[in-house]
Amino acid sequence: MSRHRNVRGYNYDEDFEDDDLYGQSVDDDYCISPATANQFIYSRQERQAPREEPLEEEEYEDEDVPMSPTIGHDLDPLDQAKLYSCLDHMRTVLGEAFPDTVLSQAAIRCGFDPQRALDAVLSEDTKTAPVSRSTLQETASVARVSEEKAPLPQRVRQEAVAEKAKSRDQVDSEVVPKVARMTVSGKKQTMGFDVPSTAENGLVATPARRGGSPEDANVTATPEAAGKRPETPSKGSSGGDEPAAAPTPGRSAGKARQSINVKAELEKRQGGKPLLNLVVIGHVDAGKSTLMGHLLYLLGNVNKRTMHKYEQESKKAGKASFAYAWVLDETGEERDRGVTMDVGMTKFETNSKVVTLMDAPGHRDFIPNMITGAAQADVAVLVVDASRGEFEAGFEAGGQTREHALLVRSLGVTQLAVAVNKMDQVNWQQERFQEITSKLGHFLKQAGFKESDVFYVPTSGLSGENLATRSTAAQLTSWYSGLSLLEQIDAFKPPQRSVDKPFRLCVSDVFKDQGSGFCVTGKIEAGYIQTGEKMLAMPPNETCTVKGICLHDEPLDWAAAGDHVSLTVTGMDIIKINVGCVFCDPKEPIRVCTRFRARVLLFNIEVPITQGFPVLLHYQTVSEPATIKKLVSVLHKSSGEVLKKKPKCLTKGMNAIVEIQTQRPVSLELYKDYKELGRFMLRYVGSTIAAGVVTEIKE
Ligand code: GDP
Repeated sequence: MSRHRNVRGYNYDEDFEDDDLYGQSVDDDYCISPATANQFIYSRQERQAPREEPLEEEEYEDEDVPMSPTIGHDLDPLDQAKLYSCLDHMRTVLGEAFPDTVLSQAAIRCGFDPQRALDAVLSEDTKTAPVSRSTLQETASVARVSEEKAPLPQRVRQEAVAEKAKSRDQVDSEVVPKVARMTVSGKKQTMGFDVPSTAENGLVATPARRGGSPEDANVTATPEAAGKRPETPSKGSSGGDEPAAAPTPGRSAGKARQSINVKAELEKRQGGKPLLNLVVIGHVDAGKSTLMGHLLYLLGNVNKRTMHKYEQESKKAGKASFAYAWVLDETGEERDRGVTMDVGMTKFETNSKVVTLMDAPGHRDFIPNMITGAAQADVAVLVVDASRGEFEAGFEAGGQTREHALLVRSLGVTQLAVAVNKMDQVNWQQERFQEITSKLGHFLKQAGFKESDVFYVPTSGLSGENLATRSTAAQLTSWYSGLSLLEQIDAFKPPQRSVDKPFRLCVSDVFKDQGSGFCVTGKIEAGYIQTGEKMLAMPPNETCTVKGICLHDEPLDWAAAGDHVSLTVTGMDIIKINVGCVFCDPKEPIRVCTRFRARVLLFNIEVPITQGFPVLLHYQTVSEPATIKKLVSVLHKSSGEVLKKKPKCLTKGMNAIVEIQTQRPVSLELYKDYKELGRFMLRYVGSTIAAGVVTEIKE
């Protein structure tokens, strides 16, 4: 429990003396301007005018304004009330972008249904393109691109039909599909994805308990597995003392469990598209959230109405340029401060992959959260700001460009796309692009990235250039004919998953859901799990049963290494589970220790490390106070041979074997057995001082 708090409620102030200013976009950090406020007040009065004035006076309305003849004439008091309510609703989405008369007419035409009226207004707006359209939409090629993709009236109609079913209150609700959120605040969300359900594959759980041995991972698929689901209720589920697994919502109850060939089924899942976990990293204000928010919009993951709402809201809050960032920066605090704090997770698809996107916080206060995100990533997009001075600020000591790149590499990410962003700010100059790529290239090579695994893409998150499709802007095409960012993500090699190894899942969140049991989220690092199976939680060394599995909000019967899942768990008290606990195969449990040996690579540290040096140990979702108990030896960087035994201190750039003692027990693996669970980072006073791998577990 306390580790839970340690991650979420960690007081970062203790680490940092100085109080940084958040973000460099200070221009946007003021509240609503008096002029905007006036407009707003004026407009609201306008809107209320018909309510206060006698009906007859409506006849003297300005004839230039194309008022609906119905207004003020044929509406009975009930319809008037409905109209005002509908208008209120529309205003929250559209702000002051459209005159009241346009909204009123649409509202009346659509029977005061705000959803339909909004769609009607927006589709009209697309046809006529009135001057009042938001500046963002005018500047961004986004609207053009997405409208070309799908004819708007058709899309609007589809949306309207879908929206009809929803309650009125849902109109403003989440549209961006979220998998999960690793939160500092403890808020948990899982939201709907349109992922093709794996249940369609007809996969069902197996009656045979998986012993956790590699051979068991490849149990043969029965012919039925690919076809239909048997209706027979299972008896005694996994053969344990737990009752049969209760049905997950959306799944048939009490099915017999069948053998599956996880590897084969994994290949078939998601329409044959492999899953790729992608983390977006970079210095604060480099444009990470804007870039990815805009990409999601271009991919159709955010509908036009929601985007319009974000534009209006961000404009009202005096942060108009953050509209796309709001797609990902969800909490009020993130929006107020204009920085990402949590690791937000979203899903999108490319031609050949299903991508789980993690938007990591750039600000150094939230690096522990970033580590959690990066530890679960397969590949990364490093966003750098191409503007003069800004790239340099992020790249120099104290900037997060270097630290993030080092962190992701140390955490096992080998493929990297560098989005050289805000190229619009430097007129898409080739020289600036080359200057940045050569500086970065040199550094990334030192950080351990292969040149052939690093790809540079010039982008503009704000205008949407070169994000989802290749740019056609002459300024860029004159010297760049490479891939767009999306094409680059699509071109990443899919990672190898440790499906054959015993099951391991590191908990990134715990929460109570409706119904019995509770939910945990996390990435399956190795093996696979099926509903009805037992898992061991380490610590506290207690077993529980998996009642339900959700991937991208789709209920499934199994999930395997690489999947970010949400598990519904029964047979255990929620208070025993913390962020950082590892669920594992009861037959081949993960080891728990307070002391281990590791090989560490020291970063650019100022203070030499001596025996007893206090550090924060970060790995996966764990953040645990620890001490360097022993300095065992200094090693040669490349050959690994011992250069010095029992050194007095360790300085920057050194490679060494040390013994680390944690305050409380942690679940770890040897790096040679499980790379993902045997890697860690050490931090001290807000800086990452070393990356390490576990070589020996002491207890
Ligand atoms: P993050 O902290 O890296 O997530 O950065 P944000 O996405 O919050 O963006 C920071 C600021 O940079 C916002 O004001 C954005 O509007 C602005 N910005 C982002 N991308 C671009 C771009 O491509 N061009 C320009 N001119 N501004 C951008």
